[in-house]
Amino acid sequence: AEEVGGGDKEVVREYFNNNGFERWRKIYGETDDVNRVQRDIRLGHSKTVENAILMLKDEGSLQGVTVCDAGCGTGSLAVPLAKEGAIVLATDISAAMVAEAEKQAREQLQSESENGAPIMPKFEVRDLESLDGKYDTVVCLDVLIHYPQNKADGMIAHLASLAENRLILSFAPKTFYYDMLKRIGELFPGPSKATRAYLHSEGDIERALRKVGWKIRKRGLISTQFYFANLIEAVPV
Ligand code: SAM
Repeated sequence: AEEVGGGDKEVVREYFNNNGFERWRKIYGETDDVNRVQRDIRLGHSKTVENAILMLKDEGSLQGVTVCDAGCGTGSLAVPLAKEGAIVLATDISAAMVAEAEKQAREQLQSESENGAPIMPKFEVRDLESLDGKYDTVVCLDVLIHYPQNKADGMIAHLASLAENRLILSFAPKTFYYDMLKRIGELFPGPSKATRAYLHSEGDIERALRKVGWKIRKRGLISTQFYFANLIEAVPV
């Protein structure tokens, strides 16, 4: 019954334009109307963003570096990257998310003008499969969780084809322990769990990258009580 047809992406788009939009805008925001679990996920996600920025800055300043943020959500990464001087294309399958990210950017970037006003990211409503062009770095955080590994392979191949130097990805790790937690969670489906969550093993992600001539250079695990993510940086072999 769980078999995946072509409908996955439509379900995800619909979710992130409606209930999912409200839920994740709250989690990724700063307001107090979140429960304990949501607050924990907010913390975990903020660590993923922070670590991704550290990985990005590790190779030097981001001034003038082109970055494509695929599946940008509410702009949690795109906005700070613009502050660092990066030239950002921020895209998402959800029009609601893109509108929110754009609003965040306007609020947060226009007031900043210390070392010259940062360049506003360019925002586009697009699924990552339809992205084209070349970017120094492509980043895709917490998106693969919405797709099974058989879809994720193609997504990774496409993202790698857009990146000249680096690809930074995060995904929910499929380890025995976390897999078990998730299965227990599935016995108690909450009303907000409108989409399936897919876990990926680091080995599967690594294989998908190797197939297109990329290898993992750095890896890290971010975990809080309810949030788990593998964060990896891949480069051409
Ligand atoms: N990357 C953001 C972050 O870490 O703050 C948002 C993560 S959120 C859990 C997942 C996002 O991926 C949603 O905004 C959703 O609309 C987007 N998304 C899902 N499937 C996508 C696809 N095929 N192409 C582009 N965006 C997608």
